[in-house]
Amino acid sequence: MNQDPIIVAIDGYSSSGKSTMAKRLAAAVGYRYVDSGAMYRAITLKAMRTGLAGASGVDEAGIVALLPTTTIDFRPVEGGQVTLLDGEDVEREIRSMEVSNMVSPVSVIPAVRHALTAMQQAFGKSRGIVMDGRDIGTTVFPDAELKVFVDAAPETRAERRFKELTAKGVVTTYEAVLANVTERDEIDRTRKESPLRCADDAVKIDNSGMTLEEQDALLLKLFNDAAGR
Ligand code: C5P
Repeated sequence: MNQDPIIVAIDGYSSSGKSTMAKRLAAAVGYRYVDSGAMYRAITLKAMRTGLAGASGVDEAGIVALLPTTTIDFRPVEGGQVTLLDGEDVEREIRSMEVSNMVSPVSVIPAVRHALTAMQQAFGKSRGIVMDGRDIGTTVFPDAELKVFVDAAPETRAERRFKELTAKGVVTTYEAVLANVTERDEIDRTRKESPLRCADDAVKIDNSGMTLEEQDALLLKLFNDAAGR
């Protein structure tokens, strides 16, 4: 039986719970977890800080020029990990509504996608990784041994995200979160470069009515089948 470390790709819509799934699976099987959305959020934050993305739009050439000198990494901390942008912990800032509202327009830029895809592939070089995002099973790791595509109704996803944000102290409304989730879905689905889509060989999961425990058990079974454990 195959016991070699595998690559697990978990894609899906905004706030579908794929990060929770990916994190918990990685912890259960002793794999590294990589949040590719955090990487898109980090480059978006850098663009916003330097005035290259904001209310007046997105300066594509300016953002592309930032890429060669940008590093994005993760650091393990008690109970999880934080995202590092050029060595700085930006975990809190990248989850703000301001960044959420700018991230999809920045993520459509082909050169941004190419640079981040290369970083993501480097993270997966030694395998034994669970990565979540939008194009992991289709573009970043098209040969991943296990691909999962997660979906749930937009209202369910917005409700979850609203609760998560409120718990973190972010001041917003359910309506604003629903609008953000719906708009990001639309941009992510319709962009030219690596749009959000379910890979042909992905297992589709609608987790609207699932408990965390049911989700964990399903993921672990899929993992054991794919990894030959
Ligand atoms: O996963 P999360 O919701 O944090 O991702 C934020 C945004 O980053 C997505 O809405 C999408 O625009 C972009 N993204 C992407 N490709 C990925 C991961 C995220 O375009 N693999």
